[in-house]
Amino acid sequence: MKRLVITIDGPASSGKSTTAKLVARSLGYLYLDTGAMYRAVTLKAMRAGIDLRDTQGLEGMANQTDVDIVPDPGGYRVILDGEDVTESIRSREVTRASSIVSAVPGVRRRMVEIQRRVGRRGGIVAEGRDMGSVVFPDADLKIYLDADLDTRALRRKLELESKGEDVDLDEIKRDIRMRDTYDSRRRHSPLVIPDGAIVIDTTDLSIDEQVNRVLTLVERIVGGDV
Ligand code: C5P
Repeated sequence: MKRLVITIDGPASSGKSTTAKLVARSLGYLYLDTGAMYRAVTLKAMRAGIDLRDTQGLEGMANQTDVDIVPDPGGYRVILDGEDVTESIRSREVTRASSIVSAVPGVRRRMVEIQRRVGRRGGIVAEGRDMGSVVFPDADLKIYLDADLDTRALRRKLELESKGEDVDLDEIKRDIRMRDTYDSRRRHSPLVIPDGAIVIDTTDLSIDEQVNRVLTLVERIVGGDV
């Protein structure tokens, strides 16, 4: 059976990771979390004390950086220059700064190179902001997930609470709004609905419903209906 390239784009906390992970698992595909890659580069920059306005410094660093997403029984691990950074890239500081670092063209160039290398053989669910528009424009199936801001903020709050962090809902909303604005307005590879993408609003959908919608679309393609 043909192994498809499936892209899932959308704003922060729209359900991309959950959906992409479960769709990939159900199809036996690789799940490529490209946000995790930008987070890893951001972590490296912060540790190195690089000023986030220093575009050249960030580009130079990115070119010397290797980021790998390695499947493991619990999901996947994020490996930055040989070090497992799966947990440390989820801090609020890294989350906030990731939108700034990911707007740097040279950083994107390096990450896209790695992403395309991973996606070359197909059998992949690639999740991010520019998967269907820039990285895999010829993908077999492009999905754009969205949900209203209140729902997204609540999801993020529950996710943080499950990790023992208690963050004010309004603060989460502010953070999400700021990242969305940054990601949509940047010059290079902004967050857009890719040409040919199917938009799914997940505001009132359960996780099962989200996943099943995507799997139904996959079945249509594999079955030759599309
Ligand atoms: O999806 P996640 O929240 O982990 O992404 C972190 C940040 O990485 C986003 O806010 C965005 O700035 C950046 N990103 C991107 N392009 C992608 C994936 C993520 O610019 N393909």
